[in-house]
Amino acid sequence: MAAIHNVADGQQNPAAYDFRSDTVTTPTPSMLNSIMAIPTHGDDVFSEDPTTNALESFIANLTGKPAACFVLSGTMGNQLAVRAHLTQPPHSIVLDSRSHIFNYEAGGAAVLSQAQMLPVTPANGVHLTLEEVRANLVDSDDIHYAPTRLVCLENSLDGAIFPLPEIVRISDFVRKRGVKLHLDGARLWNVVAAGGGSLQEICEPFDSVSLCFSKGLGAPMGSILVGSDAFIKRVRHFRKMIGGGTRQCGVVTAPARTAVEEVFLGGKLARTHELAKRLEGVWAGYGGKLRVPCDTNMVWLDPDSVGVDPNEIEAEAKKAGLRWGFERVVIHHQICDDAITRLEGVFKQLVENARARGGVQSQRGRPAPGRYSRPDDDD
Ligand SMILES: *Cc1c(COP(=O)(O)O)cnc(C)c1O
Repeated sequence: MAAIHNVADGQQNPAAYDFRSDTVTTPTPSMLNSIMAIPTHGDDVFSEDPTTNALESFIANLTGKPAACFVLSGTMGNQLAVRAHLTQPPHSIVLDSRSHIFNYEAGGAAVLSQAQMLPVTPANGVHLTLEEVRANLVDSDDIHYAPTRLVCLENSLDGAIFPLPEIVRISDFVRKRGVKLHLDGARLWNVVAAGGGSLQEICEPFDSVSLCFSKGLGAPMGSILVGSDAFIKRVRHFRKMIGGGTRQCGVVTAPARTAVEEVFLGGKLARTHELAKRLEGVWAGYGGKLRVPCDTNMVWLDPDSVGVDPNEIEAEAKKAGLRWGFERVVIHHQICDDAITRLEGVFKQLVENARARGGVQSQRGRPAPGRYSRPDDDD
């Protein structure tokens, strides 16, 4: 037990040196203690678990929505939202071509909701605009097309903030057409912490929002959906159907609540954003550019801008005792100061390697590692 309770100590927690994602955090002692402190356990399939019910009303209040439903993962939350908003095919969803729902949910919307996805790549490289949504949305009963019934936005996306005024323009447009608007807000906490608006302001333009407890907030697992009473009732029905209804799930929702209070309300996300800015500054000092603006806790290096070979990143990081494998650097609340210093050393080494080659990327004949490529341990 002692070892587990030391995990919040940066020096002893492997997460303190892991920049791959903000999902790698380990539960803090207070999150683990919150499970022991639960007074009574009930069955959440009967909506009788006091801890889970309290978390749902707490998040509904924080986001200014009438109702909330706990789900086991961010993917489950998004897929249930899509399923609950849609009814009878043919139908389509307009969304960002870089979004999680389009790319990283195993094609779920096609399987679970029989929906055609219409991916759009934003011309500004950061977020969709009303003009792009309008141009790609199918607002017609022409029998050749699948009418658009849902638009999904993501905030933050790759760590960049979606400006609230543009969200409001899109929302005003789709509401007039009876098209639903869902927000994948897995990292919405970071947007709020970075000054992108209050939770209530950002959630107001949407019919539904999903938020993750297990990313930047560091809870062991879980996400939540918020929306109208009727929407959440449909979500609960579909959640049961796919086996997402659970029994004494206070053991999961208690640490999720602690994560919101300790990391989000407790103001611990600000440091992760400051550290990301600091790394952006170090990279810029070498003439390096970013692929996406550094608004929150991610630094998306553009290796081409300084001739760095992306295939060298993992090996150089490993030499420095860090886990980091590709051009995205993610800062979470358990990253320690020593890890940042070491990462700055890795940046320096990568740039020196590039300069030794004359600023040209080495051609090793294999593609640079991507977000979900498996770490290649023998290399
Ligand atoms: C991680 C993530 C999800 C999915 O969360 P899981 O808990 O991994 O299923 C959804 N959307 C975004 C934007 C994410 O980053």
